[in-house]
Amino acid sequence: MARPFNFSAGPAVLPDEVLALAASEMLDWHGSGMSVMEMSHRGREFQSIYQHAEADLRQLLAVPPEFRILFMQGGGLAENAIVPMNLSRGGVADYVVTGSWSQKSQKEAQRYCLARTIASNAATHHTSMPDPKSWKLSSDAAYVHVCSNETIHGIEFQTLPDLAHLGSKAPLVIDFSSHVLSRATDWSRVGLAYGGAQKNIGPAGVTLVIVREDLLGHALPTCPSAFDYRVVADNESMFNTPPTYAIYIAGLVFQWIKGQTEGSATGVAALEARNIAKSSMLYDYIDGSGFYVNKVDKACRSRMNIPFFLNDESLNDAFLTEARAKGLLQLKGHKSVGGMRASLYNAMPIAGVEALVSHMREFATRHG
Ligand SMILES: *Cc1c(COP(=O)(O)O)cnc(C)c1O
Repeated sequence: MARPFNFSAGPAVLPDEVLALAASEMLDWHGSGMSVMEMSHRGREFQSIYQHAEADLRQLLAVPPEFRILFMQGGGLAENAIVPMNLSRGGVADYVVTGSWSQKSQKEAQRYCLARTIASNAATHHTSMPDPKSWKLSSDAAYVHVCSNETIHGIEFQTLPDLAHLGSKAPLVIDFSSHVLSRATDWSRVGLAYGGAQKNIGPAGVTLVIVREDLLGHALPTCPSAFDYRVVADNESMFNTPPTYAIYIAGLVFQWIKGQTEGSATGVAALEARNIAKSSMLYDYIDGSGFYVNKVDKACRSRMNIPFFLNDESLNDAFLTEARAKGLLQLKGHKSVGGMRASLYNAMPIAGVEALVSHMREFATRHG
């Protein structure tokens, strides 16, 4: 039976095929007589799950050999502290504040270093992207941090800034929690990328860190060993017990992505094409509706998270109740922004967006 369409911002929809496969392997993984949850993380079965997951991810995201892939814990929010503990050396770090998530990152980093806000879009209520040419880059920054997709405000970098071109030698750190694997990542511009898994990768509990080798080994003496990138890398993410089941599901999602095709494109390129089609369908409808509005500058609208408002906000509850009745779940906007938000992650099929637009059109006709 078809499930409802789930537009949650996270934890979010996973592919049906992945959940069904995990269910079929729940009691006995590949004849081992064990559930993945019951295996030693050092045993041969889990080691093979881990190695396949890492290799698939490296291939899907075209991660160059000089980058290490770490599976950590603590989520995006823990990384807000773990990044400055590992990279800042107690000095200066530059933060570009474009919405709630990067604001949180900057605030947390202040506890470990001099975290400067070098650009902000607060004046436009986080609906625009500050032009990198206007960023007040510090000459001595240990790194420059951006949130490459702001999940709450629905703004996304369409291309990552080229710091070298802007005259900075600092590595770029990106929080790509909510759009990882929805598009290619330009590693030539990145020193470190991190993200919680629960938007586009798998269950909550595993945090992905992809870090250039030369950035390892500079942690502050007070940094917990379990959060020292050098220690985590040297131990293949097994310094302590990793979130084994979450890594297993992430591995199944990577396999699912490898099997996706769209025209002649496969893998992440196929998903990117589909994500462009899905988000354009919704934005085009909203912009032409005269009933709904999205306030984000067109140049930086997110393909993943689309906040929108009804012109008549007194209809919000009716809109959500009727949506739920039609099998369209979790469309309520974040409390700090209000209105609605549709998250169109990789696992959301085009049919889900068509069903949403059809509901919006029908609702607008009735109430317009
Ligand atoms: C969801 C999210 C986070 C928070 O992740 P946690 O796993 O809750 O710590 C951080 N950054 C971004 C961009 C997010 O979307």
